[in-house]
Amino acid sequence: MRCLRFAVSALALFTIASAASGQEYLNGIKWPKPEIIKPGETDSQPPSDAVVLFDGKDLSAWENGDRWKVEEGVMICGKGVVTSKQKFGDCQVHIEWSAPTPPKGTSQARGNSGIFLMGIYELQILDSFDNETYYDGQAGSIYKQTPPMVNAMRAPGQWNNYDIIWTCPRFNDDGSLKSPAFITALHNGAVVLNHVELKGDTPFNRSSQYKKHAATGPITLQDHGDPVRFRNIWVREIKPVVGEQVRDPFIRKGDVETPIAK
Ligand code: MG
Repeated sequence: MRCLRFAVSALALFTIASAASGQEYLNGIKWPKPEIIKPGETDSQPPSDAVVLFDGKDLSAWENGDRWKVEEGVMICGKGVVTSKQKFGDCQVHIEWSAPTPPKGTSQARGNSGIFLMGIYELQILDSFDNETYYDGQAGSIYKQTPPMVNAMRAPGQWNNYDIIWTCPRFNDDGSLKSPAFITALHNGAVVLNHVELKGDTPFNRSSQYKKHAATGPITLQDHGDPVRFRNIWVREIKPVVGEQVRDPFIRKGDVETPIAK
């Protein structure tokens, strides 16, 4: 601890001394200018670059939408899954959902639905308020793989939200896995999955496996027989910022630039 404090103090002193001496470190990377977007007025509202899948009006963004209902701006689970017409690769997803009230059933038979990233990988939706089930099947779990770190569930009838950051799996031409999927998810503002690596798909009756699929896929919402309600569903496609190393790192002091020896 003392060592760490010394290191931090030394770094701070160096930074202050460097600034005072007019010396600046430059990494030699040319970065693109970050795009300016307009954030939502609240955390529920989509930023200006989001694809809105449901804003309270209709289910035109979904396949099989005619078999679900919209009432008072809320989407209600009906017969069969709904699948977004648009497909996504790496993305950020916001979705709000509410378990039926009064609650009915126990364990997996209570307020069950699910959001399937790429139509394949399920982040569980379940009424996990005062409702015991297997931990890797409760709300916030990657179904049958990983439990949430905490249970942040609100009572039935109240609104829950998930904010998800999804990195899709990559496959080689021969069908083998190049890199697995990763998920970070917040449930009502609490991190429940932190850069969790998926072991594959999320079936009920066998172990997980990866099977090569397209680079993009839809968002699918599960029908598990419970009238789970949804609102404010939007997705942002994300991609890493790529810079170009246009020169070696250097130190600049006044007009003098000194390359940093490799
Ligand atoms: Mg489910």
